[in-house]
Amino acid sequence: MDKELIVIPCSGIGKPYGEISRQAVYELLEDIRPEQVETVCLGRLMIRDPEVLEKLQNGFVITVDGCAKDCALKNVEATGKKVDKAVRTLEVFKEHRDLKPEGVLNLGEAGYTLAHYLAEKLSGEVECLAKEE
Ligand code: SF4
Repeated sequence: MDKELIVIPCSGIGKPYGEISRQAVYELLEDIRPEQVETVCLGRLMIRDPEVLEKLQNGFVITVDGCAKDCALKNVEATGKKVDKAVRTLEVFKEHRDLKPEGVLNLGEAGYTLAHYLAEKLSGEVECLAKEE
């Protein structure tokens, strides 16, 4: 791909489903598609870091949010960039309702399994965007 593919999770502090969104993006970046995908810090986006803004404008962007407040999606859109795909952790939870995370600091086996399924879903979205290019 010529265009960079950037996947941005919400910060997710204090909420298990936000933490799952971050863990899923780490797995995507480190294990599933390390050559293809990168991320940026949501905090740098919020302070309008010029380097981050330029990266977003020139790349495909997928956001991953832990709840309906959609912090990652809204922060990207506030810069004027339209996201290519917005994903919520709860979409995956609806398909695996038996997997309930234990807590924020320790997601437990169920929470990490959910993060793994979310990472696979994100990998599928990356593949779709790569085909579009
Ligand atoms: S989308 Fe929800 S979980 Fe994520 S940072 Fe915002 S409030 Fe927290």
